[in-house]
Amino acid sequence: MQNNIERVLVDEELIRKRLDTIAKEIETDFPQGPVIVIILLKGALVFAADLLRRIPRELSIECLNVASYHGGVESSGNVDFLDLHFPEVEGAHVLLLDDILDTGRTLAAVKKRLLEEGATAVHTAVLLSKDKTRAEEVEADYIGFEIGDEFVVGYGLDYKGKYRNLPYVGVLKLSAAV
Ligand code: 5GP
Ligand code: MG
Ligand code: MG
Repeated sequence: MQNNIERVLVDEELIRKRLDTIAKEIETDFPQGPVIVIILLKGALVFAADLLRRIPRELSIECLNVASYHGGVESSGNVDFLDLHFPEVEGAHVLLLDDILDTGRTLAAVKKRLLEEGATAVHTAVLLSKDKTRAEEVEADYIGFEIGDEFVVGYGLDYKGKYRNLPYVGVLKLSAAV
């Protein structure tokens, strides 16, 4: 698996330090009262597990399955909600977690839906944000790292279902992207 990585972009140590900072910011910024965390599967799983254990307050945790990439390396352009049931968020302050902000379609669509479902406020945190023009006008409130516009894997992010368990974020070798 590691043989297929061209370059490490964000290593474990950097991720740990950055998560400490973001967790503190979230802890101070969020008002008292119920907070529901929504984890976008599967990419945000690793980020969420490490981030949420650094936030010492009562949180409810829900997951959402959305798809925009369908396993490839390019966005398909629309966002599908794959769950039968949408979490109950009415009147709640929501912290929405995703692995990476790319075109912005996923965050924009999920944020819109959460507000339609009655969430009081939706704040978003992403591990990575690609420096590019977005298809949707959306920015995350908390960003782990800004990266260039290239396809990355690891720390939750996959290529065709693989590499999510790499402990760092890296760029795939061209020879591995088959
Ligand atoms: P957006 O809707 O912002 O275009 O894309 C968000 C989703 O696309 C992310 O949740 C992630 O699943 C996928 N994605 C975008 N860029 C990358 C990337 O560089 N690597 C991987 N593995 N997934 C990506
Ligand atoms: Mg995703
Ligand atoms: Mg994916």
